[in-house]
Amino acid sequence: MNLKKKYVRVSLLGNPNVGKTTLFNRLTGNTQYVGNWPGVTVEKKEGYIRNARTPIKVTDLPGVYSLSPFSPEEIVTRNYILGENVDILVNIVDATNLERNLYLTTQALELGIPMVVVLNMCDILKRKGKVVDFCSLESSLGVRVLPISAAKNRGIEDLVNFISDFRPQNRKIVFKYMSDIESKLSQISEVLKSENVKQYNNRFVLIKILEYDSLIISSLKLNLKAIQKIDEIRGPQKDIRYEEFIASQRYSKSSLICKNVVSELSKVRHSRISREIDKIVTSRILSFPIFLLILFTIFFISFGPIGTSLQDFARLIIFKGIAHPIDVLLGQFNANSIVQGFISSIVGGLGEVLSFLPQILLLLGLLSVLEDSGYMARAAFIMDRLMVKLGVSGKAFVPLLMGFGCSVPAILSTRILKSREEKKLSIFLIPFMSCSAKIPVYLVFLSAFFPNNKTLMIFLIYILGVIFSIMTALIFKRFIKPKDNSLIMELPDYKIPSVRNLYLHLKDQLKDFLENVGVIILSSSVIVWFLQSFDRSLHFTDENSKSILADLGNFISPIFRFAGFDNWKASVSLISGLFSKEAIISTMSIVFDADESSLSETLHSTFSFASSVSIIVFILLYSPCIAAIATIRKELGTKSAIFSFIYQTSLALVFSSITYQILSAFLK
Ligand code: GDP
Ligand code: MG
Repeated sequence: MNLKKKYVRVSLLGNPNVGKTTLFNRLTGNTQYVGNWPGVTVEKKEGYIRNARTPIKVTDLPGVYSLSPFSPEEIVTRNYILGENVDILVNIVDATNLERNLYLTTQALELGIPMVVVLNMCDILKRKGKVVDFCSLESSLGVRVLPISAAKNRGIEDLVNFISDFRPQNRKIVFKYMSDIESKLSQISEVLKSENVKQYNNRFVLIKILEYDSLIISSLKLNLKAIQKIDEIRGPQKDIRYEEFIASQRYSKSSLICKNVVSELSKVRHSRISREIDKIVTSRILSFPIFLLILFTIFFISFGPIGTSLQDFARLIIFKGIAHPIDVLLGQFNANSIVQGFISSIVGGLGEVLSFLPQILLLLGLLSVLEDSGYMARAAFIMDRLMVKLGVSGKAFVPLLMGFGCSVPAILSTRILKSREEKKLSIFLIPFMSCSAKIPVYLVFLSAFFPNNKTLMIFLIYILGVIFSIMTALIFKRFIKPKDNSLIMELPDYKIPSVRNLYLHLKDQLKDFLENVGVIILSSSVIVWFLQSFDRSLHFTDENSKSILADLGNFISPIFRFAGFDNWKASVSLISGLFSKEAIISTMSIVFDADESSLSETLHSTFSFASSVSIIVFILLYSPCIAAIATIRKELGTKSAIFSFIYQTSLALVFSSITYQILSAFLK
């Protein structure tokens, strides 16, 4: 591409009614201007692509069935393209009419201009239960193929990105005609070369000359000798209709490609093993139970005995191997007791969070293995019908599932969703999936108030979260208006997951996790420590009821009045839960002056049955921790992050108050 030019020139080429103008409007919005092509009354529309990284000018060419000069539209389109006005040709093809549309594509390919094929109307294709094998279409055509739906505004972003990053490459000729014709084409090329015609290598021009396209021939301004030579090459039999001959070859090529790439979704070809596995895994009766079983197994491994013992091991290393020696060392150096307290509290806080790393990596690793094996695509497929009702595709199910582990990687994993709207909706749903950091908090309260029904209650808490997320989805989808982005559900073959993919995946997740711990958790620990250790006049205090934290708690607690837990200790614990949910328990044990084992009894004396249930509801629903909010901000921006915080917290406040009021009315 010529960098001196101010913009890249893109033209939309396609049959009439394939959606060129719809796509043009999507791409250019209000930057477009309408005029006429010189000399004819055919409308000419031009505009600039919005949101492109480089300036790109788009021209909506008149719709044509071929590049033969039969109609004013065809002449305008052809002259424009041949006049070197186009840097990238976007050939729009109606996916539901592939065979007819490919006729023009086969001609356009011969122009030798950088080109991308855009498969439009993919929404209809999907509705008809058909799929297009993109890879094989791409290799048949030798150019990139992108699926879109102009009317439904899907895939447009990908197209814009593709055009912005486009680097033309040498293409190989994918359409060869019969050897007789090919040899005539190269003879014509020789003639043009000897006449110094610069298009001597342009297959399109060569073919048109063979077809005796008078407009092209006259435009080349050939001398009589050359024309005679060309006549000789064409042969004595003036009645040979090269044009028809070439056209029929084009048609058969298009129809052959079409046969190879379009298939019924239900008949997509897979390896025999994949088909056998799918017979069971995606079967009507077994698919769901198998799916649940796999999920259960993953959660069992991550949070059951294996995960817990790995966590215990991590704790051993962190606390006995690192935190304790630091403590001892500080003692030996006779460090100032405030400094010592500060360091051990920060190290303890970070250690607490880091000790969850094995479980998080285990969960994410197993999910990544599932993804790599090809099963996740089936899971998304199985869940698709349910999820679509909520305004997201089956794919969004993966991030939601991960939300049960930790919201941070779950939010990051919404990057697998293509449209911003779907991503946004999913991110707003993730905090309702009760994260693993809340488990110890629930357990402490449940041991105090439901010692005999802990498992059932935990299960109900999770279900309650899911119910809230469903309600949220049903309301929010009206505002966010997500587009169904799962254009074509391709189920890949099953394969043995690779260690390399697992490693690459976990490396990224680990990096993000450590960044969070390093920046957010570290700074929040410092803040909590400070607030807990100093009073309002900034004197160090051992009595936390005099600390700034207590002041803060007393200031906040009135908002919990209707929810029944309006005391400063509960308030500050909940505030510290904003830094990380695990901190609720550690803060409670500090402010109630109880260790983790005696905490349950202590809670019994502070909370009533009704207020314990209501605080559980509050903890389930209120704002996710700062790390999650920061991740939302990273993915969606500040406004969405603030919104999520306010939405979750007010929902929590309203429903915990309702819970408390109802329960205390009944229990009177
Ligand atoms: P043009 O003649 O190539 O400019 O085509 P238009 O942009 O005028 O579109 C022709 C018709 O197809 C219009 O009714 C569009 O709304 C419709 N259309 C365009 N793209 C799509 C699509 O992706 N899906 C569906 N269902 N309809 C489309
Ligand atoms: Mg149009």
